[in-house]
Amino acid sequence: MANRRNNRKSRRNKKRRINKKKLTLLFIVVILFIAGAFKLTQGAISLIKNTSNNKKQTSVVESSNVVESSNNEYENLPTEVDKNINKKYTILIDPGHGGNDKGTIANDKITFEKDITLKVGALVAQKLTKQKDVQVIISRNEDKYVSLADRAKLANEQGVDALVSIHLNGQTGGTDAFGLETYYTKEKNDGSYELAKQIQETITSYIDVRDRGVKPERFQVLLQSKMPAVLIECGFLSNDEEAKKLKDEAYQESLAEGIAQGILTYLDTNSKK
Ligand SMILES: [Zn+2]
Repeated sequence: MANRRNNRKSRRNKKRRINKKKLTLLFIVVILFIAGAFKLTQGAISLIKNTSNNKKQTSVVESSNVVESSNNEYENLPTEVDKNINKKYTILIDPGHGGNDKGTIANDKITFEKDITLKVGALVAQKLTKQKDVQVIISRNEDKYVSLADRAKLANEQGVDALVSIHLNGQTGGTDAFGLETYYTKEKNDGSYELAKQIQETITSYIDVRDRGVKPERFQVLLQSKMPAVLIECGFLSNDEEAKKLKDEAYQESLAEGIAQGILTYLDTNSKK
């Protein structure tokens, strides 16, 4: 029995010694673990801080880019004739509305006529500028208000050969009207009708749109300008289906191509120059 007891004692001692060793080891491990965890947490915190700083910096850069591009997108399009450029024809492209004057507002309440007319007008201007015998000016190359009188005045003062106003239609009290129509004024027998007819025919051959024809109307910008002048109503923003098309970049591109080609054909066939 004693032997057994002695054995037990020495085993217990061993156990205690082992436990002490184990405890020390465990203690070191725990300390190391805590230290490691602390470092990791600190690393993670600084990492999060850095990324959020970077994010802040990136978003600042991005937003300043957005502001710049939205302000300067069409600034290269001139609003006055450059006398040093010797081209056969000068055309004024006149994107309707601008600034506080939003024009027709689509049913989604966020699509404005003034934005689409600027886009399409700028596209037409860019296309015509590439022609070797055409110089183009634009009545506004940004989102700003220009009065109807000032648009006609600009055309007269700059002595352009043709004025092309770009608008979108809106139906009051309904949404079913759709299609494209071009206006001229009967008071002027100067080629305005021929220009309107050529543009209307060319656009409707370029894109799939209802042809509402060429119509006379006493629009101020047409009456006050002293050269062939037309106003294109490119489609109805009040019609959801047509509004969807008018917002589409590919459609805007084809529309602009049709307008530009119509103007060029008119110049080729009707101009006395
Ligand atoms: Zn309009």
